[in-house]
Amino acid sequence: MLLTMRSGDRPKLGNVRIEGRRISALGAIEPRTGDEILDCSGCVILPGFIQTHIHLSQTLFRNTAENLSLLDWLEQRILPFEAAHTPESVAVSTELAVAELFLSGTTTGLTMEAARHTESVLEIVARLGLRAIVGRSLVDRAGRVANSPESVPVAIGNVQRLKQKWHGQADGRIEICLAPRFALGCSETLLREVAKMAAADGLRIHTHAAENYAEIDQVQRETGLGNIEYLDSLGVLGPSTFIAHCIHLKPGELDLLAESKTRVLHCPTANLKLGSGIAPVPEMLAKGISVSLGSDGAACNNALDMFREMRLAVLIQSGRLGVGHLNAMTALEMATRKAAEALGKEDEIGTLEVGKLADIVVIDLNRPNTCPAEDIVAAIVFSATPQNVRHVFADGRQVVSETALTEIDLGGLLPKAQESLSDLQARAKRQP
Ligand SMILES: [Zn+2]
Repeated sequence: MLLTMRSGDRPKLGNVRIEGRRISALGAIEPRTGDEILDCSGCVILPGFIQTHIHLSQTLFRNTAENLSLLDWLEQRILPFEAAHTPESVAVSTELAVAELFLSGTTTGLTMEAARHTESVLEIVARLGLRAIVGRSLVDRAGRVANSPESVPVAIGNVQRLKQKWHGQADGRIEICLAPRFALGCSETLLREVAKMAAADGLRIHTHAAENYAEIDQVQRETGLGNIEYLDSLGVLGPSTFIAHCIHLKPGELDLLAESKTRVLHCPTANLKLGSGIAPVPEMLAKGISVSLGSDGAACNNALDMFREMRLAVLIQSGRLGVGHLNAMTALEMATRKAAEALGKEDEIGTLEVGKLADIVVIDLNRPNTCPAEDIVAAIVFSATPQNVRHVFADGRQVVSETALTEIDLGGLLPKAQESLSDLQARAKRQP
């Protein structure tokens, strides 16, 4: 069964042919001599999921930062842990993230990493095959929820260097973005410089805003503005700007997002986990705002599983507004085609079409948790879990085969991750 995710397409019988990095045929395909054929009976073939907000280097912090709200979570756990990262621990964290992403059908990520050791992230992502737009956190203010500040020229210079070395690498699979962490970590000067560099160099901006009441109150006290109003006043909004959360908005801020065509990144699990709230996604969609999905980080989720995000995105709106305000197909579109459109990659990924890159997930619905799959979209969004992911292709390369990773050795990786976390916690304790 094929679900191309092209607008209006329904599930239909058919297969996919992959040649090199791309899809070369779709539908009723006659096998040719030499074809390698994968059995996909009982399965639905979909475009790979696209997560637009992840922190790969926080994956090692999974299950270490419980029962904390955003600012305490940052101050007590995440920032000290990020400061204790080494190139090796970032590499282990990234490999663990990619293993989980592939096993749960995600093939593309827009990421925000710690301020240090971003090259470790890029090296692992380049080697393992994830399509990724990677940003290093930019922070130039010191304070309770901002550490390792850099001067603005140093911060911008570091991004310039990453861009020169990595932007467009791995056949265009790797890109660099500008990732000012959030208003409480960034000065006005830094945010203005980010907007300038983004415009001059054609880079995306990836940031957080309007997530938590304490964060919003502090920005309001300091600037007299809401988070989105503040970013607007500095020229940061626009179609190449991606803002995670946008939970608590003033009425006019929804219009600012819509008018500027700024992209919203919705992270339902993380928003509930940190007690932040529920983003008004149906209201955003009604205004034509682009909304796509991300798991945020394993330190506030505690998984990187798109099935959970799609499911929860629907359920929390049903709980908030009643059923029918956000349906399963809308969530699946936010996880595929709409995310590709947000990233400006709709000609390459997000749907299954001849000529597009072969980022593909094969989901086995012939399992007890998804059977009967009478409504295939409901089965994917509400019933399926990563255990239903049978095969995954990323850029034409098979990264999951018969539910197992093809290139990552979990037997070696998992104990290494556990050990790496213990070492990192010991380093974090020794910090002043
Ligand atoms: Zn985040």
